[in-house]
Amino acid sequence: MDFILLNSYNNYVEAHIAKGVLEEQGIKCWLKDENTVTIDPILTNAVGGIKAMVAKADAQKAWDILTELKKEQKKAVVCPKCGSHNIELVSTPRKAVNWLSAISTFFLGDYALAIDKVNHCFDCRHEFPDTEQSPPE
Ligand SMILES: [Zn+2]
Repeated sequence: MDFILLNSYNNYVEAHIAKGVLEEQGIKCWLKDENTVTIDPILTNAVGGIKAMVAKADAQKAWDILTELKKEQKKAVVCPKCGSHNIELVSTPRKAVNWLSAISTFFLGDYALAIDKVNHCFDCRHEFPDTEQSPPE
């Protein structure tokens, strides 16, 4: 059977959510390069993320499901400042290891290093960390 690349993910959790949703709909999905990314997140960009692969015959349906899922997730994010849903997850440049990041790591722990993506509000330009999504209504 022919498998094609459906989408690629920068993190393990996102990739597994997509896989779980697809399999719920009866679509077989496997994650390529999963091990590389999980062991060393810094390599994620080098290998192009975790690749979600599906059978060619399922690709269109799978894509529709993921598009729907993305819409749902977007709806769940609300700007804490102005209440807008016009939020996009943007990457911030990975900070160089310098005295400043060393200090924030000391005070904030691993959390400080985990943030290299933030939610950006296009209405009030407020930026806030990508926290756990609120539970579905
Ligand atoms: Zn806002």
